[in-house]
Amino acid sequence: MAALDYEAVGLKCGIEIHQQLAGKKLFCSCPAEIRKGSPDFRVIRRLRASAGEEGRVDRAALYEQEKQKYFLYHGYNDITCAVELDEEPPHRVNQEALRTALQVARMLNCVIVDEIQVMRKTVIDGSNTSGFQRTMLVGMNGFIEVNNRRIGIDTVCLEEEACQIIKRTKNYDIYNLSRLGIPLIEIATRPDIRTPQEAKDVAAKIGMILRSTGKCRRGIGSIRQDVNLSIRGGGRVEIKGFQELKSIPKIMEYEVKRQLKLIRQGKKPKDEVRKAEPDFTTSYLRPMPGSDRMYPETDVPPIIPDLSSVRKVKTIEERVKELVKKHGISPELAIQVVKQNIDLDKYTRKYKSLEPRFIADTLINAPKEIKARFGKEISVFECVDELFLRADKGSIPRSAVFEILVELAHGKKPDYEKYKVMSDDELKKEIRKLVKENPDAPINALMGMLMARFRGRVDGRKAMELLNKYKKKD
Ligand SMILES: [Zn+2]
Repeated sequence: MAALDYEAVGLKCGIEIHQQLAGKKLFCSCPAEIRKGSPDFRVIRRLRASAGEEGRVDRAALYEQEKQKYFLYHGYNDITCAVELDEEPPHRVNQEALRTALQVARMLNCVIVDEIQVMRKTVIDGSNTSGFQRTMLVGMNGFIEVNNRRIGIDTVCLEEEACQIIKRTKNYDIYNLSRLGIPLIEIATRPDIRTPQEAKDVAAKIGMILRSTGKCRRGIGSIRQDVNLSIRGGGRVEIKGFQELKSIPKIMEYEVKRQLKLIRQGKKPKDEVRKAEPDFTTSYLRPMPGSDRMYPETDVPPIIPDLSSVRKVKTIEERVKELVKKHGISPELAIQVVKQNIDLDKYTRKYKSLEPRFIADTLINAPKEIKARFGKEISVFECVDELFLRADKGSIPRSAVFEILVELAHGKKPDYEKYKVMSDDELKKEIRKLVKENPDAPINALMGMLMARFRGRVDGRKAMELLNKYKKKD
């Protein structure tokens, strides 16, 4: 089947990214930790739809109320407090989270607002005990470049995470209270995205920028993407619940096809919120909520952002590029160096004769290989300095570093004498002997024999050079 012509169908798409921050909650000092398992206490609440400032009851609120539901919250004594239960007013905004949000807004080239006003956004599904979510706009009118196209960033907000749904039933919903109040950065792009692939690329880039701050929570659910899309003659649909970035293009494609089919049948697709399913289709979730139902939070005074403490950090992408350029290591290795926050410069300054590639490879791949081959764990950072130092001075060959790590992983005390570098004369003698004994063996086979016998005592490159030399002489 031919690929859809998204320009022809008039696809417009914007995405919203929600990223949880690590550290403390946004309006109390509880840890930003999501606990599972049996709760210390349970609280029941009911929510009622009430008329807003315009005198109308919100359609979505009414929809929820018609279900006559109650909500059960699971709490934990040591990590949830009276703020999450809405029995105590919010504390001062978490300053570290605020700095991170401002930093992200700057990295997304946003205009920072002069004054941050905490707002209450009505929430009617019970996912917040108070019936509203606190949110604050920190930046707007930014942009990012993705594949040489400029995608507008509409807003960057800092808000509180909602409770996590445990179970939905007809009569009641059960929520995990521990997630409530975790700082959440919400980034909304303009509807500048034109293809499903571009939506995925934009989401990936924003995710990368967020992680570059080093302040994000990790793991499943710590970042979520919503996709807003429309096509000509179709409905505006918000798709929630993407399990992974790579499913975005397929799910969008299926949704566009679903709408096209309805249009062909003479029906008008509805504006609605839909849920991404594992088979890439979407299912109806709820009607599209009315326009933002927000009013100021009176318990938290407005904040004048202090930009002097906000540094624009290099993104992961920029740091990877720098490492590749400066040290000649592969991009794959560079990504790992950045991800693991390894200060490669510190090592290369300290161990001048060791190649950056060797250092990075040892730090990143040696533990993985030891785990895969021997099923052993090794804390490479704790023991590697001693080995790098010896290799740097030439008292052990570089190839011995891995061998010794294997010994250490097995709980053995390394005998450095065993790995003492073979003298050049000794090596020459051994190679000459080997070549003579195996006149028909190709160089690689000879190298294999040599390394099997003297692994850890000879430098691979030097051995290869000598082998080439003696083999030619024959
Ligand atoms: Zn708390």
